[in-house]
Amino acid sequence: MSMKIYNTLTGKKEAFVPLEQGKVKMYVCGPTVYNLIHIGNARPMIVFDTVRRYMEHKGLEVNYVSNFTDVDDKIIKKAVEEGVDSSVISERYIAECKKDMSAMNVKPATTHPLATREIGGMLEMIKTLIDKGHAYAAQDGTVYFRTRSFKEYGKLSHKNLDDLRGGNRSLLVSGEDQKEDALDFVLWKPKKEGEPYWESPWCQGRPGWHIECSVMSKKYLGEEIDIHAGGEDLVFPHHENEIAQSEAANDKIFARYWMHNAFLNIDNRKMSKSLGNFFTVRDIGEKYDLQILRFFMLSAHYRSPLNFSAELMEAAKNGYERIVTCVDNLKYLEARAGGGGMTGAEAALLNEAEGFTDKFDEAMDDDFNTADAISAIFELVKFANTHAGEQSSKEFLEKLKNQIVLLSDICGLIVDKEEEGLDADVERLIGERQEAKKAKNFARADEIRDELLARGIALKDTREGVKIVRL
Ligand code: AMP
Ligand code: ZN
Repeated sequence: MSMKIYNTLTGKKEAFVPLEQGKVKMYVCGPTVYNLIHIGNARPMIVFDTVRRYMEHKGLEVNYVSNFTDVDDKIIKKAVEEGVDSSVISERYIAECKKDMSAMNVKPATTHPLATREIGGMLEMIKTLIDKGHAYAAQDGTVYFRTRSFKEYGKLSHKNLDDLRGGNRSLLVSGEDQKEDALDFVLWKPKKEGEPYWESPWCQGRPGWHIECSVMSKKYLGEEIDIHAGGEDLVFPHHENEIAQSEAANDKIFARYWMHNAFLNIDNRKMSKSLGNFFTVRDIGEKYDLQILRFFMLSAHYRSPLNFSAELMEAAKNGYERIVTCVDNLKYLEARAGGGGMTGAEAALLNEAEGFTDKFDEAMDDDFNTADAISAIFELVKFANTHAGEQSSKEFLEKLKNQIVLLSDICGLIVDKEEEGLDADVERLIGERQEAKKAKNFARADEIRDELLARGIALKDTREGVKIVRL
C-alpha cells in the first residue's frame, strides 16, 4: 500500500506521489519568536517531524524547510518593553525554541530560514506581483495584493469570494480604506516610529506576514513543492494568501498536498498565548520527560483535536514507560542469554511479530495514523513480554528489541535509553541476587533488592524470570 495523505485542498485522502521520484519537498510554517513556545506550537513540530521520519524510513529524501517569523508586531512590542533591538528578542527565542525541539527529539529542519534575512526576495516577488497586475501600492506606500485578480482565491479554505466580502466589510472602516477592495491583503507596509524597517521602492517599511513563506519556500525548495503544512488556524487566511501570492507570481501550482494539524486544546478551547490558557514546553519539561509529551501528541491522529489534561499525560507516561521497560527487559535478558542460536520456534515467533510492523506501516500509510501505529507497538510489546524469557536465545531477544526500537524511533520516541542503560554495577547486583536466591540466602537477596530500589530499579520475579522496572 502506498502512503495516503489527507489533502486540505481537495478534502480527500490521496495517494502521495512526489514531484520528483524519491524526493520530498516539504515546507512547515514555523513559530513567531517572541516568547517560549507552548505545547500547542509543539503539536505541528512533533506531528510533521514524524511525517518526515516515516518518509525517510521509507527511503524518501526529505528536504524539510521550516521558518522562524522574526519580524512581527508582538516581537517589536516585547523589544520596546525590554528596551532592546527586536533582533535580541527573536534571536533569544529562536535559541530557546531549538532547545525545546531538541528535547522533544524534533530533528532540525534542512533549512530554518529567517524572515529578516529574506527581505530582498520579498521585494522581488512583490515587484513581480505589481508588474503582473496582482498588486498595487497605495498612497502611503502600503502594497496590497489584489485578491480578486487571483481567480482561484478561496480554493484551499473552500470559501467563496462573495461570502468573504460580506464577512470582511468592516475592514473598509478600520483605517484600511486605501484598499481597492476589503479582501485585499498587505504585502508591504510603512514603518511606524521606532520599528525595524527596510528600504523599498514604495516606502521604508516591513513585509506583511504571508509573503515570507511564499518567498522562502520558493528560494529553498523551488516554485513547486510537494507538501505545505501547519496548524489548521493557518488555512485561512495565511495559507490561502500564500497560494494567491505564489501562484500569481510564478504561474505554477505552489504545493500539491496541504496538511493541517488540529488544535491542542485545554478545556476544549484552543491553547493559545492570547487566551493565556497555555503551558510552555519548558513548563511540561519540569514535570515530565519530554518524550512523554511526544508520546502524548502522537497518541491521537493529527487531524483530531487533542485535549490536554493531567490524566492524559499520566496515561501517556504509563504507555511510554511500558515500551521502555520492555526494551530494558529484553536488554537485560540479552546480556544474560547463552550463546546458542535461534530455535525454529523462535524464528516462527519472529515471523509472527513481523505482522505488527505491517500493522504499524498500514496505520502510518493511512494519513499518518500515529494512534493506531502506537497500538501496533503496544501489541508488539505485549508479544515480547509473553514470549521472551530466560530461555530465549540472544538472537531472538535482540531481534525483538530492535523491532520495538525501530518502530518507536520512526515516531521519534527514544525507548532504548542507552545512556541510562544498566550500568555494570547494577548488572552485577542483579546477578549476585540471582546467585543469593539460588543459594537460598534470602536475606542477601532482599538486601540487594532494597539497594536497587534506592537506585530507582525494581525487580519483579515472574514466570519468565526476573524483570526490571524503572521507577
Ligand atoms: P504561531 O507562532 O502562532 O504562528 O504558531 C506556530 C504554529 O503552531 C502554527 O502552525 C500554528 O498553527 C500552530 N499552533 C498554534 N497554536 C496551536 C494549538 N493550540 N494547537 C495546534 N497547533 C497550534
Ligand atoms: Zn507560513
